[in-house]
Amino acid sequence: MLGGGTGGTIVANRMRRLAGPEELELVVVDRDDVHVYQPGLLYVAFSQMAPGALVRRRSRQLQPGIRFLTGEACAIDLSARLVHLGERGDALAYDALVIATGARLAPETTAGFAAGVAAGWVHTFYDPAGAESLAAALESFEAGRLVVDIVDEPIKGPVSPLEFCILADGFFRHRRRRSSVEITLVTPLGSAFNRPLAGAALAEVLAKHDVGVVAGFRTQAIDPEGRFLVSDDDRREPADLAVVVARQVGAAFVSGTEGLADPRGFVVVDIHTLQSQADPAVFAIGDAAALPTLKAGTVAHFAAGVVAENVVHFLRGEPPAARFDGHATYLVETGDRTALVVDFDYGTEHVGGRYRGPIGLPLLTPSRLAHLAKRMVPQLYWRALLPARHACALTPVALFRAPTGATRPGRGETPGSG
Ligand SMILES: Cc1cc2nc3c(=O)[nH]c(=O)nc-3n(C[C@H](O)[C@H](O)[C@H](O)COP(=O)(O)OP(=O)(O)OC[C@H]3O[C@@H](n4cnc5c(N)ncnc54)[C@H](O)[C@@H]3O)c2cc1C
Repeated sequence: MLGGGTGGTIVANRMRRLAGPEELELVVVDRDDVHVYQPGLLYVAFSQMAPGALVRRRSRQLQPGIRFLTGEACAIDLSARLVHLGERGDALAYDALVIATGARLAPETTAGFAAGVAAGWVHTFYDPAGAESLAAALESFEAGRLVVDIVDEPIKGPVSPLEFCILADGFFRHRRRRSSVEITLVTPLGSAFNRPLAGAALAEVLAKHDVGVVAGFRTQAIDPEGRFLVSDDDRREPADLAVVVARQVGAAFVSGTEGLADPRGFVVVDIHTLQSQADPAVFAIGDAAALPTLKAGTVAHFAAGVVAENVVHFLRGEPPAARFDGHATYLVETGDRTALVVDFDYGTEHVGGRYRGPIGLPLLTPSRLAHLAKRMVPQLYWRALLPARHACALTPVALFRAPTGATRPGRGETPGSG
């Protein structure tokens, strides 16, 4: 397993439950032993969480009998089934390989990004240091145009820039500065979010919070002297404070392995079996995989069982039988202590009705309950999702109970059922 973040940890723990140490030797490699709960970075930016509260040791999240190695994966030799680690090139042999190295922020691909950061004008909440420094910048931002810019798609946590705008509205209202602060989301997408039903619901929430949206703006460069963003079709967006989500790419060793990746370095896999199209011994999970769904922790969670099962099938010489449906769920902060649930898979957006489970959160409708659920996720993450505990794991099938006033049926239901 290359990568001991959300996806790598869950797959390793699932595999340990599927096959004991006598059948399977499991090794997880990561460049460090610091696991960050990334969705919490949003709250760090608003001084609602300390960065330290998001961090635990990676090795501690793994079940007994899983070996954890610290090292940077630098190259893969597919024919010899070897991963080269570190500058010295120590080689690690494998029978099956799961690539779980996520999405890397690549600010260096946008001209002016580093200079903007150095000038204290460009900020980010996508890494702990950036989120902490942004918190200070927001506290001292009295008036002007706050622009939240998504340089390019796809990005991990793709709804979090929208959530940032919505939380910024409450932040400045609370400090009685809202009338002096204009908040604008700048996105390369054609609208606020690229799923029609969820997009419409989120556009409504953004409008309610007086957040402007500039769509179809693919950031080409950042001009820290003029304090504006430049698009690839030469439009300009001025900002007094720029919160920029950098372009994201796959790990360098993935792009460097012939035939393995798409042009951005994400592993090309069969979207259902999650097996590489270049080599059947290679699988990918989470943000590292090129999939037509979200780069989100929930997607890694829902896909983990499929990867774990298919790796075990592969090692037993069987065809990969488990299939992933692209299931993505996202709890979205919608302000005033409410949140809404976005949910879809490769084929269907789910709307109306409720998310199945003991609480039954309403879909696409802001509710207090969903906000409480969102705030409980960190505990669920460390205690149930990462350890892949069966009792608490959400499964990607039959998640909904009968819709109430649904315009379309929920997952696992037929029209008129229930
Ligand atoms: C601000 C923010 C908010 C978010 N909000 C949400 C949310 O509300 N809901 C949601 O579902 N998702 C959210 N996400 C997305 C979620 O955090 C990611 O989708 C999830 O962590 C992906 O898991 P992963 O295992 O693919 O990648 P990661 O968890 O990023 O793990 C990748 C690992 O690979 C390691 N690695 C990379 N390259 C190498 C290498 N060459 N050698 C060795 N190790 C390497 C890294 O150190 C890292 O540990 C958010 C993300 C951010 C940044």
